[in-house]
Amino acid sequence: MKPTTEKEKPMICGSCLCGSVTYQITTKIRHVVHCHCVTCCKAHGAAFSSVASVPQENFVLQGGSNLNSYESSPGKHRFFCHRCGTQIYAKRDNKTHIILRLGSLDTPLSSPELAHTWVSEAVDWFDIDGELPADAKGIPRRR
Ligand SMILES: [Zn+2]
Ligand SMILES: [Zn+2]
Repeated sequence: MKPTTEKEKPMICGSCLCGSVTYQITTKIRHVVHCHCVTCCKAHGAAFSSVASVPQENFVLQGGSNLNSYESSPGKHRFFCHRCGTQIYAKRDNKTHIILRLGSLDTPLSSPELAHTWVSEAVDWFDIDGELPADAKGIPRRR
């Protein structure tokens, strides 16, 4: 008989834009953080990067030979697909967890948001407290 935790095992999957790199997460992601640091903005070409900590043993990677990495600060390596540029995860030397880049997910994630971090470095063209119109697709022409 299987233990009851077995059937509750989450299946969280992700991939890069071109599909060369795929992964599965074999544990629950506890919470989500939105990082506004300058290096996340540059690396992702975005106002912030949504991330989650995952124990390395629960991160199952395929196509890892397609990843390149960049050491954005001493001992911190950002891994991305060398074909399409998608940021997949970051890892610090001597740490046993990876920092997953949630924009690469293919499955829903019911984990709660915990916080915005590094808001001292946030761009001035994104308002954390702002309420913009939310268009389902694209941006309607506005004059
Ligand atoms: Zn790719
Ligand atoms: Zn960051």
